[in-house]
Amino acid sequence: MQSFQLIIDGKSVAGDEASFEIRNPATFEPLGLAPTSSLAQVNAAVAAAKAAQPAWAALPDATRKDYLNKVADVLTSNTEYLAKWITQEQGKPLAGPGSMFEMQACVGWTQVPASLDLPVEVVFEDDTRRDELHRKPIGVVGAIAPWNWPLLIAIWQIVPSLRVGNTVVLKPSEYTPLGTLEMVRLIAAVLPPGVLNTIGGDGKVGDFLVRHKDVQKIMFTGSTRTGKRIIEASANNLARLTLELGGNDAAIVLPGAKPAEIAEGLFWGAFINMGQTCACAKRLYVHESIYEEMVQALKAVAEKMTMGDGMQDGVVLGPIQNKMQFDKVSELVEDAKSHGARIVTGGKAVGGNGYFYPITLVADIADGSRLVAEEQFGPVLPIIKYRDVADAIAKANALDAALGASVWSSDASEAMRVAQQLEAGTVWINQHGAIHPMVPFGGIKGSGQGVEFGMEGLKALTVPQVISIKK
Ligand code: NAD
Repeated sequence: MQSFQLIIDGKSVAGDEASFEIRNPATFEPLGLAPTSSLAQVNAAVAAAKAAQPAWAALPDATRKDYLNKVADVLTSNTEYLAKWITQEQGKPLAGPGSMFEMQACVGWTQVPASLDLPVEVVFEDDTRRDELHRKPIGVVGAIAPWNWPLLIAIWQIVPSLRVGNTVVLKPSEYTPLGTLEMVRLIAAVLPPGVLNTIGGDGKVGDFLVRHKDVQKIMFTGSTRTGKRIIEASANNLARLTLELGGNDAAIVLPGAKPAEIAEGLFWGAFINMGQTCACAKRLYVHESIYEEMVQALKAVAEKMTMGDGMQDGVVLGPIQNKMQFDKVSELVEDAKSHGARIVTGGKAVGGNGYFYPITLVADIADGSRLVAEEQFGPVLPIIKYRDVADAIAKANALDAALGASVWSSDASEAMRVAQQLEAGTVWINQHGAIHPMVPFGGIKGSGQGVEFGMEGLKALTVPQVISIKK
């Protein structure tokens, strides 16, 4: 079986601890052996990044942009190769909003930061003085990625970091390391040695990285539980943090919305990547006047989608990525059933060789149920009936999770009125999860700290320096 390698200081190296097997969640077939790093290897990766950083930061902006455009070209020419890795390892199909889509997004999220500049701002000027705000790189960025969009989220962490003159040590998720390691192997080949490095392993190895005294910024995407640990660990090195944590996005369908017209958009808003997306709609609040019509419209969309091994033609829904998540989804659905909720479609694991669980719509469910209150992160959607819009808003805002939310309505001003009252980093109107590389994205409350993407995302990878000039 193929052993996958790390990149440290521009060289391919094996993990220096025992490797572990990665299996395809659609077939349980072994795919390869993933490397694990020791503390010494994490130290070597950080040392390489630290040594490479001053020269990388000293390059003219135009040169770093050229490098990133070369990275985009490598991603473009390897789109199919890397998409196949994503599908086999993560489960999302090649087709639909799956792994080819993930790779195209990797290219876009590389080209856009490569096109942006952070000009010097004059923040004050009078006859006596001129004060300029300059943006400086922070140093070594420790990037820690999850397993749901493994390559795209790594790109979100790597590219803006490099654009502004930082260097990076990346740890992919232990559930999906292979495709990411292949991607880094390919893109590191067009970058100077040490600028982009990888380490391998689980949370223990991630902890080595976040505690390292020479890591000055952590880009973390993952669970709220791990995010809290990282905040504690950052007390050691005062690393700056961008934390993209769990979500439990509410979608509110207002009276007067047209269920048949919005069903497909809502479906993908809830079930892209089998619901294993931070900003999926995870709780659907529907007004009583159109409740059953909405439930049936979603059922009709769900039942026409083909689930299976994502390497096969026509498949648009894959397996759940791992057993932990598969068990969690099964448990939450059983809990809902035992409390009298109605299973509209799905509701029982498919079984066989793969973590297949059907799209499951759960109606007539009470707001306080576990399936509503906890992040299911899987192919099951609770649909809650409401009477007063104010009550739906209050319920949407009641949880600590506050990443995204959406409002679905035929009345633009009413949708805006509701959107402004929702507590979430992003509120979408008549769409859900529609992220864009120019538009800042991040959670509030328990869903994280800081934003990624666009100018705000770039600024978060710099430290401000004021240069104050006496006239
Ligand atoms: P996770 O927190 O279990 O793991 C994420 C990463 O952190 C992995 O690489 C893991 O090895 C590492 N890690 C674990 N413990 C660590 C520690 N103590 N120190 C440093 N690193 C450690 O999360 P997951 O299950 O991989 O991801 C799913 C979660 O991510 C969901 O809650 C989802 O909502 C969230 N997510 C959020 C966003 C967002 O943008 N807000 C995007 C995608 C996923």
